[in-house]
Amino acid sequence: MRVLITGGSGFIGSHLTEALLERGDEVLILDDLSTGSVENIRHLKHVPRLHYWIDSLMNRALLAELVDESDLVVHLAAAVGVRLIVESPVRTIETNITGTEVVLEAARKKKKKVFIASTSEVYGKSTDFPFREEGDLVLGATNKGRWSYAASKALDEFLALAYWKERKLPVVIGRFFNTIGPRQTGQYGMVVPNFVQQALEDQPITVFGSGKQSRCFCYVGDTVAAMLKLLDAPAAVGQVFNIGSTEEISIENLASLIRAKLNSSSPIRYIPYDQAYEDGFEDMPRRVPSTAKIEHCTGWRPTTSLDTTIDLIAQYFRQKQKTLAYGSTTEQYSTNQQLESTDAAA
Ligand code: UDP
Repeated sequence: MRVLITGGSGFIGSHLTEALLERGDEVLILDDLSTGSVENIRHLKHVPRLHYWIDSLMNRALLAELVDESDLVVHLAAAVGVRLIVESPVRTIETNITGTEVVLEAARKKKKKVFIASTSEVYGKSTDFPFREEGDLVLGATNKGRWSYAASKALDEFLALAYWKERKLPVVIGRFFNTIGPRQTGQYGMVVPNFVQQALEDQPITVFGSGKQSRCFCYVGDTVAAMLKLLDAPAAVGQVFNIGSTEEISIENLASLIRAKLNSSSPIRYIPYDQAYEDGFEDMPRRVPSTAKIEHCTGWRPTTSLDTTIDLIAQYFRQKQKTLAYGSTTEQYSTNQQLESTDAAA
C-alpha cells in the first residue's frame, strides 16, 4: 500500500513512517518542516520505499499529485504544543483549519480514505470522566488563546465528518491524548521531554501551577499501533476514536518519578501559570480517555507503561547528547531495530 503522510517528519509521523515501512508499505511524506525535522527520518533515508517532499500543503498541485499516487492519506500536519498555540495563535488557527480543508478536498477528488489527527484538547474543561467520544466538548472563552487549538481541531472533525456524510469520503478521526516518546521535542512546551531534559542536566524541573493537574501519557508506539488498526478497520470509517493511555499521573508525581528514575539531583520548582504561559491561562485539571470504543472496534489497548516509556525517552536524550558532544552522525536513534534487516531482506 502507498500511504501519504502529511507531517510525516514530525514526532508521531516519523514513528508511523517507520511502522508502515516495516510492514512493507510505501510511504510518501509531505512536510514543511515547521515543527517536524529531517533528523526524525534521517535514519530511514536509505529505504527505497520512502519518498519525501519538503513543501507546504498549500502547494495544492503537489498535494493533488501525491494524493493521486497514494491509496490512503494520513493527515498529521498541524500546529502542536500549548506554548506554540499561545504564542502563535494565527498560525495555529490557519494551519489547522486550512490544512485540513485542502487535504479533505484533495482526497475527495480522488476518493482516497483519510485519517485526521485530532486531539484530547477538544474535550476542553469537561468533567465527565473518562472522556467518551460522544461526550460534550466544553471550551473556554475566545479571548483565551489556548482554546483556539481545541476549536480549530473540533472544526476539523466537523468538516471531516461532513465530508463523510455528505460526500461519502471515507474518513477516520483519532483524538490523541498526550502522546510521548523518543524524538518528541520539548521546544513547544510538552511536559515529558522538558522534564527528562531538565533531570538529565540537573536543572530545576519546572512544574506549572499546583502540579495537582493530571494526564495520561501514551507511548507513541502504542499510538501508532492504534492508528494502523483503525486504518485497517472498515467499521472505523466515519467515526471518532480516543487514542490514549488510561494510566493517570499528576504532574508533580511525574516530576518526582522522572527525577528518581534518572537519579537526578534536580530541584522541583513550581511556576505559576501566568509566568509559564500568559495572564489568565486556563489549564485542564484532569484528562482521562475512555478507550472502550477503540478497543471494541479494533481490539487495541496500550501496552507500554509510563515507566518503560520514560526509560526510552531518557535513552534517546542521552544518545542525542552523546551525538552532539562527539559529533557522530552514525548513531541515529531508531525505535525500529528491525527496519534495516527487513528492508535488506526485501
Ligand atoms: N507542564 C509543566 N511543566 C512544563 C510543561 C508543562 O508543569 O515544563 C504542565 C502543563 O501545564 C500541563 C501538563 O504539564 O498541565 C501537560 O502539558 P503539555 O503541554 O505536555 O500537554 P497538555 O496536556 O497541556 O496539552
